[in-house]
Amino acid sequence: MLNTASQIQQQVQLAAYNSFGVPAMAAYFADVRSLGELRRALEFARDKNLSVQILGGGTNVLFVKDYAGLICHMNIQGISHLPESGMVQASCGENWHEFVSYCMNNSLYGYENLALIPGSVGAAPIQNIGAYGVELAQFLVEIEVLDRERDAVRNFSRAECEFGYRGSVFKQQSSHRYVVLSASFKLSAHNLPNLDYQALKAALPEPGITPQQVYDTVCRIRRSRLPDPAELGNAGSFFKNPVVSRDKYDALQSEHGKVPSYATEDEHLVKIPAAWLLDRAGWKGRRRGPAGVYERHALVLVNTGEARGEDILLLAQEMSSSILSQFGIGLVPEVQLI
Ligand SMILES: Cc1cc2nc3c(=O)[nH]c(=O)nc-3n(C[C@H](O)[C@H](O)[C@H](O)COP(=O)(O)OP(=O)(O)OC[C@H]3O[C@@H](n4cnc5c(N)ncnc54)[C@H](O)[C@@H]3O)c2cc1C
Repeated sequence: MLNTASQIQQQVQLAAYNSFGVPAMAAYFADVRSLGELRRALEFARDKNLSVQILGGGTNVLFVKDYAGLICHMNIQGISHLPESGMVQASCGENWHEFVSYCMNNSLYGYENLALIPGSVGAAPIQNIGAYGVELAQFLVEIEVLDRERDAVRNFSRAECEFGYRGSVFKQQSSHRYVVLSASFKLSAHNLPNLDYQALKAALPEPGITPQQVYDTVCRIRRSRLPDPAELGNAGSFFKNPVVSRDKYDALQSEHGKVPSYATEDEHLVKIPAAWLLDRAGWKGRRRGPAGVYERHALVLVNTGEARGEDILLLAQEMSSSILSQFGIGLVPEVQLI
C-alpha cells in the first residue's frame, strides 16, 4: 500500500489522460487504486485546500487550461458475478468495453449495444451512457459511492440516481460530492436483443439474432463511424441532442423542411439530432487551426495535431453560436470542460 506522499505526484502532464490528447498540467495527481488511497488523497487535498477533479478514462472531458488542484484518477479494479443470478459488480476503474466483453463471455446479456463506448465503469452512471437504443440505467441495480461531505460509503439505488438522457443526480452536482466506487447490474441469461435503433436492425440478419452478433455489429458500425481517439484525438459527441417544444419543432419544419427527430417521454417535447443541425450549418470536415470537425460526423470535434484545449473550445463556441443564429437553438456540451 502506498503512503500519501508517494501516491501523489506533482506537475503531471495530462495529455495521456484525456482522449482529445490536449496538453494541460495538473498541479497534483493521484492514481487511486483503493478506497483507502482515495481517502488519503482527499485528505491531502483538504489539508492543502486544493480543489479536486475526479477523472476516469478522460474520454468525456476537455482540459481548457492547467488544473491547479488535485486530479484523482480512479483506477480501482475488479469484476465479480454470481453465477445463475445475473448479478455482476464492477469497480470504477474497470474499462467499460472490457466489462461488456466480460459480460458477453459469461453469458450475461443486455449491454451488447453499449460495446466499444470508451471510458470507465465509474463514469458510466454520471451521464447514463447510451447508444443504439440502450442506456446504462436499464440494467443498473445500484452504485456504491464515497460521499465526500460525510466521508462515508453509501449506496444509491437506480431510482435515487435519477437517470435521464445523458444525465443523473451526480451530473447535477458539480462539486464532485460523490465518487463512484463500483456499480452493480442485473443482466439476463436470455437472448433479448434490443433492435429499436433502425440502423442497427438494418445491419443485422434476421431472424434468430444472437447477442454476439449484436455486439460484433455494434463494434463494426462504431469503428466505421467514429474516429479512434488513439489515432485522432476526440471525445465522441461534443454536444447533447437539444430538446425543443413541439411548437418550436413545427416552426423549424416549416422553415427548413423535414427535420429528423426522436420522441421523448414528454409528448410536448422533441429531441433533434445535434449532428443534423451542425451538418446543415456546414460544419462537417471544417477546420479552425489544429482543431476540426470530423469529416464523417459533424458532432465530433477532433484534435488534428497540436490543438490545445482552448482551440477546441473556441471551435465549439463558434459552432454553437452558428446553430443559435441559424436555428434559434442553444447547444449544450456533453463533454465536461475543466
Ligand atoms: C469515440 C467516443 C465515442 C463515445 N461514444 C459514446 C456513446 O455512444 N454514448 C455515450 O453515452 N458516451 C459516449 N462517449 C463519451 C464517453 O465514452 C462516456 O461519457 C464515458 O462514460 C466517459 O468515461 P470516462 O471514464 O472516460 O470519464 P471521464 O471523461 O474521465 O469523466 C467524465 C465525467 O465523469 C466523472 N467521473 C469519472 N469517473 C468518476 C467516478 N468514479 N466517480 C464520480 N465521477 C466520475 C468526471 O469527473 C467527469 O465529470 C464517447 C466518447 C468517445 C471518445
